[in-house]
Parts: sequence; C-alpha cells; structure tokens
Amino acid sequence: MKPGKLSDCYRVDDGGKFRLADFDPGDINGLTHSKEEARALLQEGVKRLTVLQDMLYAQDRWSLLLIFQAMDAAGKDSAIKHVMSGVNPQGCQVWSFKAPSPEEIDHDFMWRTTRALPERGRIGIFNRSYYEEVLVVRVHPDILARQRLPHELVGKKIWRERFEDINAFERYLARNGTVIRKFFLHVSKKEQRKRFLERLDDPEKNWKFAAGDVLERQHWSAYMNAYEDMIRNTAHECAPWYVVPADNKWFTRLVVADAIVETLTSLNLAYPKIERDKKRALDAARTALENE
Ligand code: ATP
Ligand code: MG
Repeated sequence: MKPGKLSDCYRVDDGGKFRLADFDPGDINGLTHSKEEARALLQEGVKRLTVLQDMLYAQDRWSLLLIFQAMDAAGKDSAIKHVMSGVNPQGCQVWSFKAPSPEEIDHDFMWRTTRALPERGRIGIFNRSYYEEVLVVRVHPDILARQRLPHELVGKKIWRERFEDINAFERYLARNGTVIRKFFLHVSKKEQRKRFLERLDDPEKNWKFAAGDVLERQHWSAYMNAYEDMIRNTAHECAPWYVVPADNKWFTRLVVADAIVETLTSLNLAYPKIERDKKRALDAARTALENE
C-alpha cells in the first residue's frame, strides 16, 4: 500500500472547518482483516519504519516529533509500543508528561517539553504534551488557578493566546528541521467504559486502573469540546493532527504506522554520501587491515 493512503483519511491540515462529529471512533476504513492479516500489515509498516529511521539517524539533519494525546485507555501506550517496536532505541526517545512538578509549574508552560525535544536525526515521542495546557487545564479551571500566573495575564483570551503561542512555536520548530506530527487517538465513551471494566476484571490489568480516571470520564463532553477547539486552532500543514479512530486497537496502530512511514518517506532521506577524501581514507584503512 502506498504510504499515506490510509492515514490521509484522518489527517487534518487545516483546522478551520474541523468538526469532531465527522470522525467516527469505530471507523476501520472498510478493512476486514483477520487478526493475523492486521498483524502482518503492521509488521510491514514497522519494517519500513526501521529502515527509514536508520537513514534519518545517519543523515542527521531532520528530527521527528510525534505527539500523542487522548482520553485515558485510548491506547496511547500500546500504539507507541507496537508501532515503534522495530526502531533502534538509540535514535528514539519517549517522554510521558504527567501533572507538572512544582519546579515545572515555576516555569512557562512549554519549558518542560522544550527540554525534551528530539535532537537532529532522532525521533522524539511525547506521550501527552504541552497540549494538556489547553485540555485538562481548560476542563479544570482550578489547575489554571494553581499555575500562579500574574492575574492580569489570565483572562478570557487565554486559550486563544495559548493556541497562538503553540502555533508560533511549532512553526519555529518546523523551520529548524523538526518535523511534527500529532495524533489524537479518538476513542468512544462506550469503548473506554469497556476497557476500564476489563482493567478491573483482569488482575494483570488492575495496575493500569486509576480511580481518578472514572472521575475524568464525567467531564467527557467538556473534553471533546476542548479537543475539537484544539484541533481547529492548531492543525496546520507544517504540524497536522491525525484524528485516529481508536475503538479498534489494530486499526489505530495501522493508521499511526502509516502516517509515520509517509512522513519519513516524504523527507527523501538518504545515507550521507562519502566525500572523496573520506573515501580515500577508507580505502587506505582497508589496505592497512588487509596487509596486517
Ligand atoms: P496511563 O494512565 O496509561 O499510565 P497517563 O498518561 O494517563 O498514562 P497518568 O499518570 O494516569 O498517565 O496521568 C497523567 C495525568 O497528568 C493526566 O490526567 C493528565 O491530564 C495530567 N497532566 C498532564 N499534563 C498536565 C498539565 N500540564 N497540567 C495538569 N495536568 C496534566
Ligand atoms: Mg492515566
């Protein structure tokens, strides 16, 4: 399958007219694969990704920032685990951003994520990100109150200002060679309930269950409004959002893998060409080794 063919259906480049209601969490794009077929297809994507990452690393020019946002139990962790399974750990780093520490709160809201940005040649994965600042913080005004911003800077315009700042920051990163792709794993409220119940039923999954997650669920529609507004305001050509159907994990992984393969393919990566002097040095090294 041509890279991007599947994931383009879920890509939002221009948030202007975006409506979350147009995207179905249960969508599987008409694919009727058996579990084995889906696994084989994913493996194909993972293999391509492995080759592309090797070139990204060797070329050492671009970096790739992948941002994952979702409601609890949407499958962020497992999508990251499966899609990145073939990638060389040296060239890839995953960061999970939880509720900020006192030190982090003492800084501007991009501080902690900026320190974690990927170096050239690397892939950086943000499991949650600065986007929490227009999601959980928007849904719970008391979190904003605890950020100790000067009063005169906190007004009705704060969300618009945060979108502006995020857009400016992402454009800046893009202009410096960081390619940004953002994934909203779009799970339905019904499927989340099912997954929470599974976590409660299965002793090996109990650890994944946090009582607070059920409380967050009560704010579902506020979260969906916040996600919609976020995507409307921050989906751009240089930093698109993918609204990935997340009620079927096998499908989520296929879409995410395809989007990453397409992105890396579009960079026309190549192994660095060895210059003539260097080539001569390599030939000399070979001769020396052979004559040993
Ligand atoms: P999992 O539950 O799969 O282990 P998780 O990403 O949900 O992964 P948790 O420790 O359960 O990890 O949750 C992290 C929490 O931190 C989320 O509720 C998230 O909304 C919150 N959080 C992240 N960033 C911020 C922020 N900037 N301000 C306030 N809360 C935040
Ligand atoms: Mg959680």
